[in-house]
Amino acid sequence: MTHILVTGGAGYIGSHACKALAQAGYVPVTYDNLSTGWQDAVKFGPFEQGDLRDRARLDEVFAKYHPQAVMHFAALSQVGEAMSEPGRYWANNVMGSLTLIEAAVAADCLNFVFSSTCATYGDQDNVVLDENSAQYPLNAYGASKRAIEDILRDFGASHGLNHVIFRYFNVAGADPDGEVGEFHRPETHLIPLMLDAIDGKRDALTVFGTDYDTPDGTCIRDYVHVCDLVDAHVLGLEWLKSGKGSRVFNLGTGSGFSVMEVIEKSQAVTNRAVPHSIGNRRAGDCTRLVSGSDRARDELGWNAKRSTLETMIADAWRWHQNGSYEK
Ligand code: UDP
Repeated sequence: MTHILVTGGAGYIGSHACKALAQAGYVPVTYDNLSTGWQDAVKFGPFEQGDLRDRARLDEVFAKYHPQAVMHFAALSQVGEAMSEPGRYWANNVMGSLTLIEAAVAADCLNFVFSSTCATYGDQDNVVLDENSAQYPLNAYGASKRAIEDILRDFGASHGLNHVIFRYFNVAGADPDGEVGEFHRPETHLIPLMLDAIDGKRDALTVFGTDYDTPDGTCIRDYVHVCDLVDAHVLGLEWLKSGKGSRVFNLGTGSGFSVMEVIEKSQAVTNRAVPHSIGNRRAGDCTRLVSGSDRARDELGWNAKRSTLETMIADAWRWHQNGSYEK
């Protein structure tokens, strides 16, 4: 059996990746410290609890499974927190990833798929961002991911570490079978917060700023379905296995939606009102992040099947009503 080490496999994107890997015939081994993940989300392969910065524990896990590749999702990923506690982002994300990369190289596991972010690009208004766009992250989250990209390039040159870097735009939706879904505590993301507001699980949604330079004044994001996103990761793994070398790919749809448009679409999909009020801008937010994703389509053969705003919200709503990891 071919084992793949999935860091963060107990989290939102990692758990969906484990399902996609299992469906493609791999054994996903989840490595997660459960700081933000859920053991109940580990359903498709073995679980090994551990921290990214624990080199001895990582060595043990590499020796036990001899994984053919690493998929590295584990990270702190909240923009607001990154603004107030940048040190945690550098320590956990950057130091943790360096420790993981060194352990992988020592174990001769030289295929590495990394979850990076469009937050590495920063604010470049009215530009569709492609993989060659300059990277000017506005917060420690984006900066930490950019630094890890640099580490991967250095280890690629020095140790032959083959890597695929995926820069995600805004990930949304849930497994349509309802086996796994998005469940953050605390929750900070727009769509799950909106769904909570709809059914009264929390107060009204606050729209973070209506004075941006966009048609309705609210920020624009490019939303991609989590199932499409993880499909790209399986393609990335095949890319590495076939010896095509290291490559960066954006993962988005190329279509941007404002916060107000997402609210309107949610009202249409759920047939319920989204209680919301207007608040101040959130520090660290970019005005507009929209992907040029031609490369993933043309080179990987990636085809986003569920990434219409309507399907993403419908899948998230179904999970929201039926799924949870809390006892
Ligand atoms: N947003 C908002 N209210 C919220 C949460 C998010 O208006 O309670 C906005 C946020 O400012 C951004 C967009 O929704 O423009 C998406 O934010 P999210 O945190 O989901 O993802 P991010 O773009 O930060 O990765």
